[in-house]
Amino acid sequence: MKVVTSLAAMQEQAWNWSEGNVIGFVPTMGFLHEGHLSLVRQARANCDLVVVSIFVNPSQFGPQEDLSTYPRDIDNDLRLLKDEQADIVFFPSATEMYASPYHSWVNVEGLSEVLCGKSRPGHFRGVATVVLKLVNLVNPNYMYMGEKDFQQVVVLQAMLRDLNFRCRIVPCPIVREQDGLAKSSRNVYLKGENRQIALCLSEALALVQRLYASGEKEVARLLEEASRHVKARGGRIDYIKLVNPHTLQDETLATNSTRMIMAVYVGTTRLIDNAAMKA
Ligand code: AMP
Repeated sequence: MKVVTSLAAMQEQAWNWSEGNVIGFVPTMGFLHEGHLSLVRQARANCDLVVVSIFVNPSQFGPQEDLSTYPRDIDNDLRLLKDEQADIVFFPSATEMYASPYHSWVNVEGLSEVLCGKSRPGHFRGVATVVLKLVNLVNPNYMYMGEKDFQQVVVLQAMLRDLNFRCRIVPCPIVREQDGLAKSSRNVYLKGENRQIALCLSEALALVQRLYASGEKEVARLLEEASRHVKARGGRIDYIKLVNPHTLQDETLATNSTRMIMAVYVGTTRLIDNAAMKA
């Protein structure tokens, strides 16, 4: 496994490889857990060469967000990735990624302003920009991304399609703790009783799926039950929505593919989760 930090070295390596090889790419912000590793495993199983990036992207964090305290452990990440037989770990610096003077940004209109984009203005502009840059440096055929960040997948699929990239996203299922909590680097922030309260997200998803399966299709009713559960458990709702999985627009009557998607504060930690009404 090779660790590459320079942008020029990454690009040269990738373009040398691209002839005759299928390149799989897993972009991450590090502090890796089983959710990330599931993506690396799928890339390893399906591609000739696997590149994993570790980059805590400053441009996707708002001014009041946790950029400086975002958890990091590069030594452990490298150990885990070696075990998974990644070929390259791309670990660029922010100063090189956003070399001054920096002018260029990507906006994926219509999909970036709703849901998490509403609570985190500019977040998806940062995400789209960094992913476009990474795709240009790594030149992958496939990019493995978790459905944990469902809106991110939808936004980036639109970007790749609109801008005529050959790269395709392979959406991968959410990896959860045994009790249902979606794995996340931010779960380290959950101390004491907050770890239990955090279960309100996966519980609300399961509750709504059960109500849907028993015949309730009215979105207003389903949302009422979900909100009631989250509040009773002690979560503070940022948003809970039932949306069309392609347009991310609100639905009024749920169908099997309707996506329930939510962001909830547990203490000061903002957690996200989502699920389709029926798998
Ligand atoms: P992050 O490091 O949080 O930017 O995540 C990097 C990639 O890992 C993204 O595609 C995430 O959706 C994915 N990911 C994070 N947590 C999970 C999880 N619990 N299950 C599956 N994929 C995940």
